[in-house]
Amino acid sequence: MADPRSRNGRAYHSPEILRWAEALHAPHDAFLQEAFGAPEREGIPAIQVAPLEGRLLELLLRLAGARRVVEIGTLAGYSALWMARALPSGGRLWTLEKSGRHAALARRTLEAAGLSGKVTVLVGEALALLPKLEGEGPFDAVFLDADKGNYDAYGRWAAAHLRPGGLLLADNAFLFGRLLEEDPGAEAVRRFHEESVRFFRTVCIPTADGLLVGIRRGEEGRHG
Ligand code: SAH
Ligand code: MG
Repeated sequence: MADPRSRNGRAYHSPEILRWAEALHAPHDAFLQEAFGAPEREGIPAIQVAPLEGRLLELLLRLAGARRVVEIGTLAGYSALWMARALPSGGRLWTLEKSGRHAALARRTLEAAGLSGKVTVLVGEALALLPKLEGEGPFDAVFLDADKGNYDAYGRWAAAHLRPGGLLLADNAFLFGRLLEEDPGAEAVRRFHEESVRFFRTVCIPTADGLLVGIRRGEEGRHG
């Protein structure tokens, strides 16, 4: 029987604790503030990562020494801004966005932050754009944050185009709480998890909606 004193699985943060930790660990400068506020201001969905998640993406890219990064799902460029700041000089981020309006907002934000030399915003369906990016690989990191029903396809693309040791990152790994439901979208995200485990050393960090983190195995991962 579960120990009623167990702390396992409980969440202890409150909005106040989060705000305090965000202000300390992930403070917004004017550019991050602009990017974070853009969706609400422009009347598009405010579905960007949280500040502490953006900061985590930045730190993970720094740890990996990432120089060549792909993001699927740009929105207004908030996560792209965090990740671009992790890149050394000569580093590049390609970020894919199907909405021309979202892409235009992101370009504006990234340009204002002086990052347009490092970041390329590509407009279109990610599945159509990804094959055109292949010549730029192999990549050091891929961050998934677009339509969840294609996570399995995006994960396969990442496995094929990340270098061994490269980082797979995926937001909304709990699918807004619907991960275990019986519908094609949830099945795709579960398949994404299951295939990731084969090709990557993985963990799923229990952020508000789950962040899958994986390190690409070497060739042996394909067989064992
Ligand atoms: N990563 C962003 C948030 C992305 S929100 C941040 O944290 O700041 C998801 C984005 O994916 C939306 O802008 C949506 O337009 C885009 N998107 C959804 N389906 C897509 C597809 N098939 N191809 C490319 N972009 C897509
Ligand atoms: Mg997300």
